[in-house]
Amino acid sequence: MAGIAAGSSVWVRGGPKEEVFSPAVVQSYERGKGYTVRSQSGERLVRPADVSLANDVASAADSCALIHINEATILHNLRARYEDQSIYSYVGAILIAVNPFQSLPIYGAPLMEEYAGKPLGAAEPHVYALAEEAYRSFVRTKGSQSLVVSGESGSGKTETNKHLMAYLAWRSKSESVGGDLAERILMANPLLEAFGNAKTSRNNNSSRFGKFVKVGLSERGSVLGATTKQYLLEKSRVPYQAPGERNYHIFYAAVAAAAHPDLACLGLDAGPSGFHYLNQSGTLEAPGWDDGAAFEVVRAALASVGAEPQTVREVFRVIAGLLHLGNVRFEGDEAASVEPATSASLDKAAELLGLPRLGSLLLARTLVTRGETTRVELTPERAALARDALAKATYARLFERTIGWINRATRAEGGEAAPPAFIGLLDVYGFEAFETNAFEQLCINFANEKLQQFFLRFVFKAEEELYAAEGVRRPDVEYQDNSRCIALIEQSPSGLLRLLDETCKRPNATDKSFCEAAAATHASNDFFVEPRLAGRRDLRSDEGFCVRHFAGDVVYTGRGFVEKNNDTLHADFTELLAASGVGLVKDLFDVGAASGRKGQSFNSVSRRFINDLNELVADLNATTAHFIRCVKPNTRLAASEFVPSLVLPQLRCSGTVDAVSLMAHGFPTRIPFKAIHERYAEQMPPFLRDLEPPHFCEALALALDIPAEAFRIGRTRLFFRAGAGQVLEELAERD
Ligand code: ATP
Ligand code: MG
Repeated sequence: MAGIAAGSSVWVRGGPKEEVFSPAVVQSYERGKGYTVRSQSGERLVRPADVSLANDVASAADSCALIHINEATILHNLRARYEDQSIYSYVGAILIAVNPFQSLPIYGAPLMEEYAGKPLGAAEPHVYALAEEAYRSFVRTKGSQSLVVSGESGSGKTETNKHLMAYLAWRSKSESVGGDLAERILMANPLLEAFGNAKTSRNNNSSRFGKFVKVGLSERGSVLGATTKQYLLEKSRVPYQAPGERNYHIFYAAVAAAAHPDLACLGLDAGPSGFHYLNQSGTLEAPGWDDGAAFEVVRAALASVGAEPQTVREVFRVIAGLLHLGNVRFEGDEAASVEPATSASLDKAAELLGLPRLGSLLLARTLVTRGETTRVELTPERAALARDALAKATYARLFERTIGWINRATRAEGGEAAPPAFIGLLDVYGFEAFETNAFEQLCINFANEKLQQFFLRFVFKAEEELYAAEGVRRPDVEYQDNSRCIALIEQSPSGLLRLLDETCKRPNATDKSFCEAAAATHASNDFFVEPRLAGRRDLRSDEGFCVRHFAGDVVYTGRGFVEKNNDTLHADFTELLAASGVGLVKDLFDVGAASGRKGQSFNSVSRRFINDLNELVADLNATTAHFIRCVKPNTRLAASEFVPSLVLPQLRCSGTVDAVSLMAHGFPTRIPFKAIHERYAEQMPPFLRDLEPPHFCEALALALDIPAEAFRIGRTRLFFRAGAGQVLEELAERD
């Protein structure tokens, strides 16, 4: 763009250390060369593509009220506000929440009062404002709403969800008599966190599952009930944690409470360092998480969702049983035997889980071929895998059962079906791209593709509606849809996850055969790239692949795909568990046993995930959506530290930049008439100054010779094409 005048303030791409843009002033422009700009570091020549106009205002509550809207100005706006401890701001109707990593005095009932009954934008940007927007929209239209919270690990999704839920509980309580139900819905949080959260290298309290909570409301807006749906718990964390990470909080809570009479016979006195499932990562503590206090909290929460005292005791019994199971080790060259030093652990696990035949089952499999039953001994490696598979399956079912209890306790009264209209709160993992990416990342990133598609379609539609409401004709806009990447992953029969299922169904399926099938099928797909071409020379095309996601390229390593996609626990195990002497264990596997025996059909993790996601998107499509993008400003989890090079990619991944460029095709700057009037009236001659704000704005635009196609007069605001509002700034500079 050659149109930037000398003397204009701009942002230039690049900067010292973690800066991605630096401020400068344009000196001159030379065709074919670019701009000469002056900054703190002196004068230099830069390419036009690296220059974007800066605004003369310090910051704005809504980035769309800035005259120049681009990556640099949005980023700068967030930073300026964050440094002022204003963690919330808007981009249009999207709320951006930058994690403060410190407790701020901006929550609680007195503050909620300030938002009740007010439209978005009437008060400072806040998570309560969005909850209120959803609530009011529900009461007005009686239609379902959703609050979609996204962001990377540690960005604050779960905390944001808690504030949203607290607001909805508070807001609807004033409308209803049964405040107790709202309390029970809030009580679900400590349970979900104890069983589903863990310390990771990125967040000391990371949710290792996704969730969608539907809060059912009566027509008058009082809470009727809630249902929680969970997505893809990370089971692999039970037997293994990477250095610096921990297992699920509940395990440490149980160990910390070893002396409690309820846990007296569980053999937990060794402390967390005494258990293989807890000590392999070298990290036993999670800062900010009190293991000692957690036991009582969980006990109380389990009781409050209606678990009987006997069942509560059995929950901890199972948790302890899994810990002892993890201590069992195997030895031998061919056929495994239990290492004598760990046989006491095996006995304890068998006792606590109520499985007297556990030992023999860990060492061998029964195979039924042509009606004949044979016993096949396992190698020590396979035996260890069987041990871990048992632990993973049992824990996953316990987690699902906990959610079942929560759902039973928060069910709408007088009916088992979910109430017809709801406000849905979505807390799902954000886009992930690590050094090594596995099956879990493909699932997570696929979910993000789906949500991105939903988001863009929704923003597109909302834009149309805004133009219609303001009586402004909308220019034709095309946007980049990501449906081809979704098809690459999901489409039947050749999508990556479908191919994986096909591979898994074959005998002797391997990760290699899956990768080969993927490479052969998608060689010519633009969204599928060989690892070599994605800069990973260490990975052959039968060892992995790269997917071109909307948020960037991700290289996946095929290792473990086949095993992780297979959710079938060997029938030997399901039978054993369903016959457990411990009521809770028996109960967890009772249904599974029946289906497990019948031909041992293959249960696919990815198929279930695809179905769950499609159901979720269908649910979301039936709602009016409100979006919250959480941003993690630094990786040290430190208060008041804003690292631009970390934030910008998040704005891109969250679709915020896409949404803005979608708006940019039309009239992205929308400034309320009142704001323009307040700012510029003083400089105008009296006959203009005294006009009503809408007329004032129209007269002003005409007087300033803004080309007619570059602005539109709406009902409440003035719409500008990108950059067209600059004349207003120049006007201000004339002071
Ligand atoms: P994950 O994807 O790993 O579950 P998340 O996005 O859910 O991450 P949270 O667990 O909500 O992240 O937040 C991480 C931490 O950041 C919290 O434990 C808390 O310390 C801090 N935090 C987040 N939001 C806020 C807030 N609004 N006020 C104060 N601290 C916050
Ligand atoms: Mg979370």
